[in-house]
Amino acid sequence: MSSDTVTIRWHGQACVTITSPAGVTVMVDPFDESIGYRLPDIRPDVVVTTHNHYDHANVDGVPGNPSVFRGLTADGQWAAIDETVGDVRIRSVGTWHDEVRGGKRGLNNLVLIDTGGMRIVHCGDLGHVLTDEQVEAVEDVDVLLVPAGGVYTLLPSEARTVIRQIAPRRAIIPIHFQTEVLTIRLEPVEAMLKGLPIATRLQTNELRLPVGPVETPADGPQIVVLGWKSSGA
Ligand SMILES: [Zn+2]
Ligand SMILES: [Zn+2]
Repeated sequence: MSSDTVTIRWHGQACVTITSPAGVTVMVDPFDESIGYRLPDIRPDVVVTTHNHYDHANVDGVPGNPSVFRGLTADGQWAAIDETVGDVRIRSVGTWHDEVRGGKRGLNNLVLIDTGGMRIVHCGDLGHVLTDEQVEAVEDVDVLLVPAGGVYTLLPSEARTVIRQIAPRRAIIPIHFQTEVLTIRLEPVEAMLKGLPIATRLQTNELRLPVGPVETPADGPQIVVLGWKSSGA
């Protein structure tokens, strides 16, 4: 089944599924359900993890028999993912979980997903503003998924800096922030939204984007706050 859209769905915390125009579904960072959310009833073709923490790497909890690309090796080093599945290319760029090069919380990855003529970047548990090298490694970004809840990741003000560094053309989607069901204590999304253009809040957990090439909207990229519940639930 093919379409002329790329669909992005948020399932809570940093768990996102991206479905390509050809119908390939990539799930990033499936959480352990002890954090308060339920994994979606989706059988992805691919599961990718940014790092090995339990709220990002519950690969065994994902239904079906997906290909699994882990961002970190078992001993916690960057795995340097570069894989193509159907019409989706998946790569990783090494980053850290804290502002001291992993000294406190270890390593992390940005996950780059190229499909439908656009590039989507998922920041995982990024814990620092990017180096020049990291910015160069992710050039030409259309959609940015950025942790907005502080505490274990970027401060909300640093998240705004990362948005400026990456300068996505089309959309910014906050993830990894406090909701009414999350049992981990994070900051609500409002902390990061402060000082940014007014966000679009969707009742659904889903954003559909027509395939690229993508032109920058005249009023800049949209900030889209998704719900974590699917509209059908
Ligand atoms: Zn983490
Ligand atoms: Zn996390």
